Order: sequence, then C-alpha cells, then structure tokens
Amino acid sequence: MNAPRLEVDLDKIHHNAKILVSRLAACGISVTAVMKSSLGSPEIARAVMRAGVSMIGDSRMENIEAMSRAGINAPMMLIRSPMISDAHRVVRYADLSLNSELDVIRQLSYAAKAAGKRHGVVLMVELGDLREGIMPADLEQSIASVLDMPSIELKGIGANLACHCGVSPDSRNMDQLSALTRSMETTFGISLEIVSGGNSANLNWGFSGADTGRINNLRLGESILLGCEPLHRQPIEGLYTDAITLVAEVIESKVKPSQPWGEIGQNAFGEKVPMVDRGNIAQAILAIGRQDVDPDGLESHLGIDIIGASSDHLIMDCGDHFLPVGAEVRFQLNYSAMVRAMTSPFVTKVLRAS
Ligand SMILES: *Cc1c(COP(=O)(O)O)cnc(C)c1O
Repeated sequence: MNAPRLEVDLDKIHHNAKILVSRLAACGISVTAVMKSSLGSPEIARAVMRAGVSMIGDSRMENIEAMSRAGINAPMMLIRSPMISDAHRVVRYADLSLNSELDVIRQLSYAAKAAGKRHGVVLMVELGDLREGIMPADLEQSIASVLDMPSIELKGIGANLACHCGVSPDSRNMDQLSALTRSMETTFGISLEIVSGGNSANLNWGFSGADTGRINNLRLGESILLGCEPLHRQPIEGLYTDAITLVAEVIESKVKPSQPWGEIGQNAFGEKVPMVDRGNIAQAILAIGRQDVDPDGLESHLGIDIIGASSDHLIMDCGDHFLPVGAEVRFQLNYSAMVRAMTSPFVTKVLRAS
C-alpha cells in the first residue's frame, strides 16, 4: 500500500463523536464538529453527522465548499472570522460565522442582501486568551450595531480559550459568558439561541459537574479525532485515541555511529543537534519529513526513538528492533502532527470502517 499514509478509522471517529454528543447532551450542550484538521473530509463529516452533531464547523472556506459540494447538508459554521474579501463566498456556503469585527459583519450583510439571504452571526467575546473576541465592555455596543444590519441574524455569542495563551476554560470565565448572555438578552429584549463556550479544551469543565449555565454549544475537533483533551493531552474516558494512525516506510537501514564527524554547524532547520555518544546504533531512515508531519508529535508503536528529521527524512534509532528497508512503522500522532499530515498532499489518506 502507498506510504506514507494516514489510516483513518471512521467507526472509531463515529464512536468518539457519539459519546461526546451524548455526554454533553446530558449538560444541555450541543456539538459542532470541527473539520479543519481533516481538510473538510466528507467521509469524516458523514461519520460525525451520524453520531448526532448539530453542526459542522470549519475555519477554511475551501473546506466548507468541498463539504457542500460533496452533499454534506448539515448547518455549516465558519469558525474563523471571515475575510472581507471572502464575504460573498461566506454567505453563499456558510449558514453562520463566528465574528468579532463590525466592518466584516457589515460586508456580510451587504453580501447576504445581494444573495437574497440572511446570514447568521455569533459574536465572539474575549475572555482572556487574547485571540479573537470583542472586549466584554464593548459587547453591548456591538450587538446594538449588529441588530441594525438588515441581512444579519444575531444567532448568539461565543468564546474561544486555550488556543493562544493556554487560558483554561473554567467556572469563572464560563459563568462570565452566561452572565453576558443574560444581560444582553435583558438589555435588548432578544433571545440568544447559541452560546458557544469553546473547543475541546472546555471538556474538563463540561464534565466536571460544574453548572454549565447558559452554555449550550461546544466546537469540538481534537477530542473527536484523537480522543484526548488539549489542556493536558489526557485521553478522554471511553474514547478511542487511535482512530488515526500514520504509517511510513523505511528507505535506509544501517548500523552507524551515534556521533557525527567533521566540523559541526547548524542543520537544515537552523538547530544544533545535541549528540551523545552511544557507540554504534541501528539507524533507520523513513520516507517522511517535516513537510509532511510535525516529528515532535509522533510516537512509534514499537517504542523506538526519533533522533532527527529533515524536510523529507525521519531518522530513528531502532534499538533492538531490526527494521529492514521496505518495512512499515506505525505512529500515534498528536494534534500538531495530525494536522500537518492530514493537510500534506504527500500523505495518502485511507479512510475506512473498522
Ligand atoms: C480549531 C477551533 C476549534 C476546535 O478546537 P479543538 O481543540 O480541535 O476542539 C473550535 N473553535 C475555534 C474558533 C477553532 O479555531
């Protein structure tokens, strides 16, 4: 079979999504399945839709368009603030988008009017992680402006934590989002249908038994695909952590000294490789590199160590395992490795039911 390849077990992804959907439903929270790390794979989208997610989310219009063309007819949420230059595409293919800039929303309103539609908007609120969001003190003014835009439907408010500064979702910031929801509803006499509290990093809070207040939606990617939560990268009970595996092939296998010789400068990526003399080692080179994957996010099933990586080569110390040329090595991936492999045109994707 082709290598390198990602083997994606659709049944395990379906299972993960289903467990998350049912556990969160018990707290009154719906799931938007975030597909960005899978390039908007229609097969994965179908697997998570069968599991009962209420919406499909993606950060890229290309992925949303690809899923629409493939016949995925779930409500589509654009989870990155639209570019003004994309406004027409956004209103055509996405049902709603997460937004934090009035200038963008105004363009979405014009584009929606031109298309004879209304576009749904969820206003993002900054709760301390310092990525996207309107400062809480400015929310009221922003809502007043959005309510005046004729082709925009204010669907709700939301927040995103743990992405830029690693701020953890907890009772304090989630209660603040609930309180803002209530006060905006009272101020404007409206009801906010969606209160989207965050991403997979919100699961510890969601499952902690804390009062989830008005939060009724989470946007989940990593937890569905990798079965773990991103704050401490712990497996989530009852979920598969091996729904996605990477397979790469050995192209050189030799006994070599563990120490380089010659004058040592920087390597191809501007790093100095620390060297410990361990005598001769069984070294294998695999045909996969930094163009295809984040080598720091790989763990081999054989427990053998990655000792280096260049654009196209992964160098491993095989220890006691003999890996002949042509052998395949399987890896578990973290989020960073998975995203890069999923989006590399050099990595074949094999999707199947288990
Ligand atoms: C990527 C992203 C998500 C999903 O994050 P996971 O950690 O993969 O669950 C949710 N919301 C926004 C705004 C995102 O950019």
